[in-house]
Amino acid sequence: MYNVTSKKAEEFISDEEIQATLAYADKNKDNMELVDALIEKAKERKGLTHREASVLLACEHEEKIQEIYRLAEQIKKDYYGNRIVMFAPLYLSNYCVNGCVYCPYHMKNKHIARKKLTQEEIVKEVTALQDMGHKRLAIEAGEDPANNPIEYILESIKTIYSIKHKNGAIRRVNVNIAATTVENYRKLKDAGIGTYILFQETYHRESYEKLHPTGPKHDYAYHTEAMDRAMEGGIDDVGLGVLFGLEMYRYEFAGLLMHAEHLEAVFGVGPHTISVPRIKRADDIDPSVFDNGISDEIFAKLCALIRISVPYTGMIISTRESQAVREKVLPLGVSQISGASKTSVGGYAAPEEERENDITSEQFDVSDQRTLDEVVGWLIKLGYIPSFCTACYREGRTGDRFMTLCKNMQILNCCHPNALMTLKEYLEDYASEETRKLGLKLIERELERIPNPKVKQTAYEHIHDIAEGKRDFRF
Ligand code: SAM
Repeated sequence: MYNVTSKKAEEFISDEEIQATLAYADKNKDNMELVDALIEKAKERKGLTHREASVLLACEHEEKIQEIYRLAEQIKKDYYGNRIVMFAPLYLSNYCVNGCVYCPYHMKNKHIARKKLTQEEIVKEVTALQDMGHKRLAIEAGEDPANNPIEYILESIKTIYSIKHKNGAIRRVNVNIAATTVENYRKLKDAGIGTYILFQETYHRESYEKLHPTGPKHDYAYHTEAMDRAMEGGIDDVGLGVLFGLEMYRYEFAGLLMHAEHLEAVFGVGPHTISVPRIKRADDIDPSVFDNGISDEIFAKLCALIRISVPYTGMIISTRESQAVREKVLPLGVSQISGASKTSVGGYAAPEEERENDITSEQFDVSDQRTLDEVVGWLIKLGYIPSFCTACYREGRTGDRFMTLCKNMQILNCCHPNALMTLKEYLEDYASEETRKLGLKLIERELERIPNPKVKQTAYEHIHDIAEGKRDFRF
């Protein structure tokens, strides 16, 4: 039985409710009166329920889809402006005891190179990431209680935050590790993590169990209830996601929104971010064996619908997607992208380009292989502000406090100047001459858009101080 506030996975992600939602969406996808009313409702910026959004996802009328795109673009502009936050993943260890059939880290894969970074190797990786200009990382690890216990993750986080190379610093560490206990989430919170990210992979229980045949991740309820435990452990920024391609996208979309509704109903705060990964080729993984791959058009539609359904939730696109696809979905509501990512363990300090006997530790093939400088330059040319901001979590603006900022549309007086100041740091310390020129012009132009005169004046002063060598200002 569906119950949004239940703590049981099968009740807040009820299969019955999803099936009823899909039937309702099919029945109403050509009901133009309802479709128009839903688009009108979305214009109020209060979001849409899983049932409402599912009708729009099922609707195939081109002019309505274009209207949804326009609205998604407008909502992105209103809440996120033209900023795009930058991050990079850092793979700590690919030891894993699970049997996920889509992931090359699965236990039975004897072909892949197994690696776990020592603290000294982490220093090298983080130094390489700082030297590119990164300030925000997402750490990734396989699930392996013997090789990657929580103590290892905590020690690694401490190491990462302690490294100060030249003007570099990692100011926010997000964590993407397997579902764990309330006690461990509390330890992660105390270690000063930003967002706890865990992809559901699929909300379809039966498929989930088949796709995770062995290991602790087989337990659907334990995995699905992880965000509740994370919140109980004090982490109020959590990141959801499904791995598109495993199951029917319409099922996943309804499940994703139900999960967001559940967190909002129980904890008063929805997910901080939603990621939209699609399955990629990897060591012993051929994505074509999964039947539910989605086209770029459907992918774009999903991004736009997430934007209008949960306007206050950030959306993340990784380098799994090509430059062309990223360019297509950026205006539809994406707020964060990774740049210059390596998905191998130790890949930043020692790239695995020349693989011996084709043995790699990579998790999946990266489509967008540009350098960070190229990505930053590209964003600026497209009219975006690449942002290296980490201010909110460091100012304690997490969970509902961040949402309040967003809902009150204070972004132009806060996130916008923070983006400009962190971009200025990047331009001073890491950019190529071409990117630097483009960036400085952008900053000049964008400073004028800050509405509050006092904030504008302070931002001008800080930008000047950064040119003089000072660092780490924030509102
Ligand atoms: N091991 C952790 C867990 O159990 O959740 C998370 C870390 S894993 C390195 C990060 C994510 O990569 C997974 O949640 C999965 O969605 C994604 N992934 C795995 N195999 C993939 C593939 N072949 N292509 C694209 N993404 C993949």
